[in-house]
Amino acid sequence: MKRPSVLIIGAGVIGGAIARRLGSDYDITILEAKSKPGQMTSRLNSGVIHSGMHLPPQSLKARFAREGSQMIRQYCEEKNIPHRQCGMLVVASYAELMDVMAELKGFARVYRRGKQQDIGMRFIMPWNIKKLEPNVKAIGGLFAPSVVIIDQVKYVQSLFADAQASGAKVVCDAKVTKAEAKEGHWEVESKAGTFKADIVINAAGLYAHEISTLFGAPEYPVYFYRGEYYEVMGEDAKMVSRLVYPVYRLGSKGLGIHFTPTMSGRLLIGPNATQVDGPEDYETNKTPEDAFRQSVSRFCPQLKTAKLKWAFSGIRPKLSNDGTEADFLIKIEQDEPTFVNLLGIESPGLTSSMAIANYVAELLSSTASSSTTSSIEN
Ligand SMILES: Cc1cc2nc3c(=O)[nH]c(=O)nc-3n(C[C@H](O)[C@H](O)[C@H](O)COP(=O)(O)OP(=O)(O)OC[C@H]3O[C@@H](n4cnc5c(N)ncnc54)[C@H](O)[C@@H]3O)c2cc1C
Repeated sequence: MKRPSVLIIGAGVIGGAIARRLGSDYDITILEAKSKPGQMTSRLNSGVIHSGMHLPPQSLKARFAREGSQMIRQYCEEKNIPHRQCGMLVVASYAELMDVMAELKGFARVYRRGKQQDIGMRFIMPWNIKKLEPNVKAIGGLFAPSVVIIDQVKYVQSLFADAQASGAKVVCDAKVTKAEAKEGHWEVESKAGTFKADIVINAAGLYAHEISTLFGAPEYPVYFYRGEYYEVMGEDAKMVSRLVYPVYRLGSKGLGIHFTPTMSGRLLIGPNATQVDGPEDYETNKTPEDAFRQSVSRFCPQLKTAKLKWAFSGIRPKLSNDGTEADFLIKIEQDEPTFVNLLGIESPGLTSSMAIANYVAELLSSTASSSTTSSIEN
């Protein structure tokens, strides 16, 4: 039987995880605008495999974080991808009096969300925080010991190696520019030529909204939020060894500037969340390092004197801009030929990648079985 042909647009972690999951049941080609896979947001992130404790429990984001985190841990173990179970501390700091209520509200919310999802976490008293992280000063916190960090670059490379081993083709320097539905299939023009497919999957990250309109789907508004990182230099890079987050503030666009140790031994602080005009606005009007120093020194006074250096930034495509928490948008926009849209794949997209891939595979098999049923009935 002829295998359905699938074009995946975008060779980031999402495109790679989907290609790997669909495997040899489909004839898969991945079109990537850059010269190799994984050069955009899938590289420019914190590398944290989130538990879902910060997220609304019923959301796709939380569900995929719960499922995906288990899958990635197992995969990293099987494939020897560098990872470390460092655990995550969320700490309430000795804030100014005016801030205490905000601090407690945010703290209660993370606790409630974590409990509802049965995430292994516990309250931790200041003296026990000190035992784990002697340089962190807090009035209390939550500790989720199972959270891991991974080498996100190696993870993406491994997904593509698996996909290619089961027959997927990756075509780089192939920016998609045009699409047309013709006689039950898609004809897709790219910088590397024209491709035909029965199914197109939009995994174009920061440009997914543009691809969506090329394929005749509705225009979805997208707001870009840059997350910047500074790096702690010299011996001070050893001042913490775990993920240490402040309490999440209601309405905040990110999780608050925090400590992120990386698998390569760096200690990053960030990311913040600053709205920018476009998907490639990585460096204009950089946030000064003092803003980072002040945020983190609330719970780690030693940072006041540490030497910091700009590290990098990544950009989140957000689907809401009014203080509400938008979910991932993953749906079949059109059938025959099929167009699957993935939009707003911001954090925890890395964590969720394998669970998203499962979800897309289920969506495709449900349309395949419903079209079989209708042709039998006809
Ligand atoms: C600052 C920051 C920190 C984050 N931290 C975490 C974290 O710790 N944990 C976590 O789980 N998640 C985190 N995330 C989220 C995570 O990084 C993303 O959700 C994930 O990388 C999105 O992957 P993607 O494949 O959708 O996008 P991308 O990696 O951007 O891949 C999309 C690909 O599509 C290609 N493309 C675009 N347009 C076209 C076109 N027209 N034709 C062909 N190809 C095209 C691009 O070149 C790109 O390679 C973070 C994100 C940011 C910004």
